[in-house]
Amino acid sequence: MIIGKPRTESTTLKALKFLNTRMSLSEEDKRYYLNLLKGYEGEIMFDSMTEKLECDCIILNDLLLEVNNSTFQIDTLIITSEIIYPFEVKNNSGDYYYESDKMYTMNKIEINNPLNQLRKNNSLLNRLLHLLGHKLPIVDSVVFINPEFTLYQAPMDLPLIFPGQVHRTLQKVDATQSKLTRQHKLLAEKLVSLHMDDSRFSKLPSYNYHSLRKGIVCKNCHSFLVSISGSACICQNCHTKESVTEAVIRSANEFQLLFPNEKMTTGLIHDWCKIVSSKKRISRILQKNFKQIYLNRWTYFK
Ligand SMILES: [Zn+2]
Repeated sequence: MIIGKPRTESTTLKALKFLNTRMSLSEEDKRYYLNLLKGYEGEIMFDSMTEKLECDCIILNDLLLEVNNSTFQIDTLIITSEIIYPFEVKNNSGDYYYESDKMYTMNKIEINNPLNQLRKNNSLLNRLLHLLGHKLPIVDSVVFINPEFTLYQAPMDLPLIFPGQVHRTLQKVDATQSKLTRQHKLLAEKLVSLHMDDSRFSKLPSYNYHSLRKGIVCKNCHSFLVSISGSACICQNCHTKESVTEAVIRSANEFQLLFPNEKMTTGLIHDWCKIVSSKKRISRILQKNFKQIYLNRWTYFK
């Protein structure tokens, strides 16, 4: 097993996480954020199982691809020599029921049927593979990873994998006599090169520099109750310690992600971090850890 593309938090999820600590999100934005977070946690759970595969395969996590002006996202793609396996990972918990190709909560509220997503993805992936000159058959499925999930009345012939079946499904993949060739590896590399960053599709709440709370947040509990003692930042809420250097770098990265078009200057990061009183200290940390760019008579960092 080779991990051809590791999973990382999407730009959207990261931005929402930062915004959630620095401003108050609307109910709707908060729900969206928590949904993304839950989905991501489910994918991590699935990763912990796919990482145990021993057969000759390549795993690509979290691909965002485009074909014929349609974008589609694949949570996990496993390439073996004979079959390509896309998985749509769902972290729903609680009880649901299935009726006439639709999924409902027990209160009869219809939720998105992930099979619709799967079918759409299947046809787009098929088209893309065809364009890339590959004829591998696709065997896709929806994985419900949360052990607290139940779906009543689900027809047996649907490509749904329930929590108690995930392990066995992967065992079946593992049991295939897969022998990857150079072609498979090139395909994997090609798909990774076609992956797009999600930021241009994200729907973030509107925010600006002045509306966000300034300060260094604890890397562990995200509280603002961080104080500086010598070369360390100490959280008064959970007692986590972090070096001032690390904390400033982390905060500067956060600033860059939230304001990609803003030029990062010592003055801005000094204001952003708030609790580091010495501007010189901020300047030294930025000089050492970011690329310094000179523009006319002033300097900024990248
Ligand atoms: Zn803390």
